[in-house]
Amino acid sequence: MLWRFRGMWYVWNMLKGMCSHILPPRCLCCGGSEPGSSGVCGPCAQGIRPIPTPLCSVCGSPSGTAGVCLGCLTEPPPFDRMTSAAVYDGLIKDILHAFKYHNATFYKAFLGKILFDELSKEEVACDVVSFVPLHWTRMISRGYNQAALIARELSRLLGLELRFDVLRKSRRTLSQVGLGRALRKKNITGAFCASGVADRAVLVVDDVVTTGQTAREVSMALKKAGATRVVFASVGRMLI
Ligand SMILES: [Zn+2]
Ligand SMILES: [Zn+2]
Repeated sequence: MLWRFRGMWYVWNMLKGMCSHILPPRCLCCGGSEPGSSGVCGPCAQGIRPIPTPLCSVCGSPSGTAGVCLGCLTEPPPFDRMTSAAVYDGLIKDILHAFKYHNATFYKAFLGKILFDELSKEEVACDVVSFVPLHWTRMISRGYNQAALIARELSRLLGLELRFDVLRKSRRTLSQVGLGRALRKKNITGAFCASGVADRAVLVVDDVVTTGQTAREVSMALKKAGATRVVFASVGRMLI
């Protein structure tokens, strides 16, 4: 029986190798030739805008001056560091929208790579990687958790363990999109619980940060469960 599976695996790899010669790799965004190592060509990559510097060394938002921003000084957030790879607009907004709502999961390696590149600029200093969970009802309707797919790619690149059992969404919430700041806070307060992270430094992955309220709630749950350090990393960040 085993030799049959081995034979099929061998044929599959041979076909894949042949296809890569016949069909050269294409840019994931425009379909053009010569994509870079991330799978996206040079002109498309230029449409992805990094967060304008200088950034707050805690919340990672553009603060105008280097160091810790006034918001983090007056009201220190529950996370130790928040960082994002790109401004949530233009091409990255389109990619993340397709990735999240239209099953375009083939972007996962690209999104994991740009987040890895961003995190590689500094010391990550985390023990495990986790992600913002979906409520089980949303998980069934969507079929996948977009943050978990990015976290899997990132954990592989960082060589860190990916933990699926750390965070849980304990109740359903409305989509944060379109809600005002006060409603967003009310919508998400107390929606997450965490366990199994005592004395661990956790890197939490999400696709987009808007007001940062989800990051705060998730980080509070992790700290309550004994996490020593929480780094929150997203691919996109809405500048508000
Ligand atoms: Zn392209
Ligand atoms: Zn700050």
